[in-house]
Formats: sequence, C-alpha cells, structure tokens
Amino acid sequence: MKIAIASGKGGTGKTTVAVNLALSVEGMQLFDCDVEEPNCNLFLGQELEKVEDVSCPVPVIDSEKCTLCGKCADFCRYNALAALSTGIMVFPFLCHGCGGCGLVCPEGAVREEPRVLGVVEKGKATAPLEFYRGLLNIGEAMATLVIRTLQGHIDANRPAIIDSPPGVACPVIAAVGDADYCVLVTESTPFGFHDFKLAVEVVKLMKIPFGVVINRDGLGDSRVEDFCRGEKIPVLLKIPNDMRIARLYSEGIPFVEEMPGWKEKFAAMFKAIKSGSESGVMNA
Ligand code: SF4
Ligand code: SF4
Repeated sequence: MKIAIASGKGGTGKTTVAVNLALSVEGMQLFDCDVEEPNCNLFLGQELEKVEDVSCPVPVIDSEKCTLCGKCADFCRYNALAALSTGIMVFPFLCHGCGGCGLVCPEGAVREEPRVLGVVEKGKATAPLEFYRGLLNIGEAMATLVIRTLQGHIDANRPAIIDSPPGVACPVIAAVGDADYCVLVTESTPFGFHDFKLAVEVVKLMKIPFGVVINRDGLGDSRVEDFCRGEKIPVLLKIPNDMRIARLYSEGIPFVEEMPGWKEKFAAMFKAIKSGSESGVMNA
C-alpha cells in the first residue's frame, strides 16, 4: 500500500508526519519525493549512497544533415528549439525529452544525448528503515522526472510512505498520483486553511481516498475540523502544539523515538487507513 503525505503548502509538518509514521510501522519504506528540498534525512541521519542518475534525453542537431526546415522547432511545445538562419539552437534546460523533434525531422539530423538533472539515493542497507530520496540539481525544473524515477524503486509488496512536495503543482501530482491513499497535513490557521482546501480539491479531482492530520493542534481554531465534519473527511490524528514535540523537531529527532506512545498512535492510524482501504469504505 502506498500512502502519500501531502499539504497545500510548506511548513505544516508534512515531513514530520511522513518520518514519524514510517518509523512506527514495521517493514515500511520511505520515499522523500520533495526533490527540490528533501528534508526527511535531517531526521533520519542515514548514510546515503547513489542508486542512479536521473537523466533526460536532449537533442543534438547534426548541422551537416540539417536543412533548416524548422519542423523540429515548430513541433517543440516547450520552446526548447529555435530556428535561426544560421542553425537550430537548443535550450537543454527547457527540453522535456519527449523525443518528438527527432521523430518529425525528415533528414535524420537529430540525435539524443542524456543530460543528468538529478539523482536517486538510498540509505545504507544497515539502517532500520528503508529510505530513498530524490535530489533535483539546482536550477533544474524537471522535478517530475526525478520523482517518477524515484518511485520506480517502490517495492509493491511492502507498505510505502511518499513524502510529497508542498503545494499543489505538477510535482505533487507526480508524487501523489499513484498513491492508494493520501494524508493531508494541515494546521488550523486562516492561511493554512486556504491552502488545505486547495489540496482537498486536488485529491478529490484525482479520486484518491484521503484523510487529514491536524498538526500543532490548539494553535489556531476549529475551522479545519468544522470543514472536515461538513465534508465527511476523516480526521486521522491530531498532533498537539506541544513544547516537547517542538524541541525534538528543532533538534532533528523524530518525536516517536522519544515519546513511544506516539508510535502506537501512528501505527493505529496506518492500521485504520489500511483496513479502511481494503474494505473500500474510504472517501474519494
Ligand atoms: S525532445 Fe521534445 S521537448 Fe526536447 S527539444 Fe525535442 S521536441 Fe522539444
Ligand atoms: S527538423 Fe531536422 S532538418 Fe528540419 S530544422 Fe530540425 S533538425 Fe534541421
């Protein structure tokens, strides 16, 4: 079972929930898909090793064969090619590697070269939790490719937690789209509520069953709970605005390690999600 942890915005405690949940369930795998800023390992402290580079095939134009017909540049919807009077200019950072320019070229003047834009890393096998993360090179825009490559390492026979990027843009769709269930992490504050409602709309559109974890409960008001009650969205867990939890967070320590009662609460949440999912009673 794949459970994505998402939030309408950053800073709501999404990574905290992902890490603590992963550490509370035996045999769990954790995938940090927040590839622009993967933070899970700040709490895990695992020694990481490279599993594979993530690369995108970009075109290289053979000027000997090219007749400057412009068909490749006309085809590219990402404006990664420009037809100049002197030749075809390639902008590799804009290329999505679709291969279409090579297909439309009547002269066979386009070949492809891989361009590395990120990496997939894995925690050393001796670590208690199996952990993978993706890392997008600085300045790159193709987060979705890194996320998809990273997710290729999910063992379908084991439960997996996917720490998704914040927000509701394309990388989130790539991270969450394949999940069996989505946990939305939010705070009950006015700003958090606005982004939370956007995230709810997205998971509803994607028809993914979902529930909510309210983080720093007690800090704001009851607006998230009132909304969830009205919309029949399950509130799976409330994490209080607790000084001890905040201190452990600031020290990079997953709070289930120091407050074992919470391990049981996270494990119970996983069990409820799993049994609800298997019996088909979860909302979508
Ligand atoms: S591979 Fe696709 S995205 Fe890249 S330049 Fe060619 S047409 Fe454009
Ligand atoms: S489609 Fe082929 S021949 Fe035409 S401009 Fe592009 S590379 Fe040159």
